Amino acid sequence: MLQVQNLVKHFGGIKAVDGVSFELAAGECVALIGPNGAGKSTCFACLAGQYQPTAGTIAWDGKLLNRLAPAARLRQGVARTFQVAQVFEALTVLQNVQLAAQVPRRLWAISAFKPLDTQSHDAAMALLEKTGLQTLADQDVLSLPYGAKKRLELAVALAAGPRLLLLDEPAAGLAEEERAGLMRLVKDLARQGMAVLYTEHNMDAVAGLADRVLVLIEGRLAAQGSFEEISRDSTVRRRYLGE
Ligand code: ADP
Ligand code: MG
Repeated sequence: MLQVQNLVKHFGGIKAVDGVSFELAAGECVALIGPNGAGKSTCFACLAGQYQPTAGTIAWDGKLLNRLAPAARLRQGVARTFQVAQVFEALTVLQNVQLAAQVPRRLWAISAFKPLDTQSHDAAMALLEKTGLQTLADQDVLSLPYGAKKRLELAVALAAGPRLLLLDEPAAGLAEEERAGLMRLVKDLARQGMAVLYTEHNMDAVAGLADRVLVLIEGRLAAQGSFEEISRDSTVRRRYLGE
């Protein structure tokens, strides 16, 4: 279980995240929505360790994460993806996933990347199948279509065997069909017991998918609840749903 209490992240005078509290349990699929600049990515960076919060606590399974580096959080089962996919372009699709599977156990894996025993090959191939990338396994990432790159980033995050998955706009820029496929996969991961927090701008991908929605506006949670509940909130309608 993730427990975020009074999370604050200021950049000089900019209050990017300004006192956010929420909980997220195993098996839950929760959407974090809000307009551009609301603080969604900053929240993720605080949760995954790229940013040190200005104040507040982040606890995972009762253990305080605040001071842990991203790799240490990964070892605790916390993985994230980025709004702009972060993968190694000089490696193949398969190698990216194999490498990612090694990182939580061996921090030096990146500098000492050695391919790779059969076991890691098979595990990585299974993940590529799950994410629909099996036919692209030996392609260089550089030449990968945009949508495949987004799926690869998910495969890379899954390779670490996370129990908490933070997906920053996982379906952004994808065509409708590809988006639906990806979000089905995300939902399945939650059904299998993962805790999933994702950001999303397309309300169809929130309405049909999220067990719960957190609405972030100007760094604060303006509303939370089921999609129906937050859709009734007047602030949300005015500020976010454009009414
Ligand atoms: P969202 O992901 O919801 O679009 P962000 O978390 O990216 O929002 O940004 C929230 C606010 O924090 C914005 O005003 C943004 O300009 C600011 N911000 C984000 N990262 C930084 C940074 N590294 N330095 C300064 N300001 C930042
Ligand atoms: Mg963002």
